Amino acid sequence: MQFVEEWSANQGRNLIYIHPAVLEVFRQYIQAGPSDLEAGGLLLGYVRGSHLEIVEATVPTRFDRRFRTFFERMCDLHERIAKKRWVDSSGLVRYIGEWHTHPQDYPSPSGTDLIEWRKLALKRKDERPVLGLIVGRKTLYLECMPCVGEGMKFHSIVD
Ligand SMILES: [Zn+2]
Repeated sequence: MQFVEEWSANQGRNLIYIHPAVLEVFRQYIQAGPSDLEAGGLLLGYVRGSHLEIVEATVPTRFDRRFRTFFERMCDLHERIAKKRWVDSSGLVRYIGEWHTHPQDYPSPSGTDLIEWRKLALKRKDERPVLGLIVGRKTLYLECMPCVGEGMKFHSIVD
């Protein structure tokens, strides 16, 4: 399974680059088998103008509650990692958004996902959108959710 590194929206005015190490993390949590559980975590990276570069995905901890079609993150541990990266990088590596898996080949967000992403966007003090990322079995789904208005969906750039 090869996930795509480069994603584009808004005729290329908004680009997202996902580091291969992050895609490797996603690959490890693909819900391939019928009993594989949902997984998820935070996405961390750089904001470069209107572009995003994802350099790290936090992985499920034993404190997270994992189910077949549901994942509940114990916020504190993931957020502690995010805070540490932010401090260690002098504020360059930031919280970008959230990821979780779906047992679907071509994943699409559930109603709950959209509500959740919106809530997270509303919670942000810097008023930046939150990137919602879903790891399916064959592809990823990426959408930037602002605190108001429509989300911005990204398309993979395949060469
Ligand atoms: Zn979901």
